[in-house]
Amino acid sequence: MKEKARPSFVGLHGKDLDLWLRTNALAWRLAKVFDLPLVCVEPKRRPNGAGGLCYHDEGRISILLRRKARAYDGGAWSKVPRSWVNVKSTVAHELAHLIHPNHGKDFKALEAEILAETATD
Ligand SMILES: [Zn+2]
Repeated sequence: MKEKARPSFVGLHGKDLDLWLRTNALAWRLAKVFDLPLVCVEPKRRPNGAGGLCYHDEGRISILLRRKARAYDGGAWSKVPRSWVNVKSTVAHELAHLIHPNHGKDFKALEAEILAETATD
């Protein structure tokens, strides 16, 4: 039996727990509203580069909350986390990839719809 993906917290800065809980709650709420096949949401393990990733086949998304100068060799964390507006737009983007693993027209339409739903979050 395939083991269900469990979230990793490798990329989470200690000061971002509240932001993480808010991000997590948002992702699951949106998944329910849009009936998305979300299985697992986690902080991005490598806290640099892209703001998020979608592992389409696993139903897993990872969201970057705070950047590091370098991912693996002890690079310093940014002094501040990403803004809530940026985090919300990344969540919408990665959730839309659960349905459309590309950046085509249908993806962009769904992403915009999901993002609009976050207006009051
Ligand atoms: Zn993308």
